Amino acid sequence: MIKRQTCPVCERELPFEPGKISELFPFCSERCRNVDLYRWAEGKYAIVEEIGPEIAQFLQEETDLGEV
Ligand SMILES: [Zn+2]
Repeated sequence: MIKRQTCPVCERELPFEPGKISELFPFCSERCRNVDLYRWAEGKYAIVEEIGPEIAQFLQEETDLGEV
């Protein structure tokens, strides 16, 4: 049984062809990859002084998509 891989950020099924690994794997998109990267950084470094408006934008978008 092959279980479809889902994006750990948005939990959508990955759009990639079976057996074809994207450079974005295991994320469905560059956006999700960045969100995860930010989460990781945030957990690792309590104080991050280099958060730019792009990251804030990511988090805001994520909130908008948060409703399941
Ligand atoms: Zn995703």
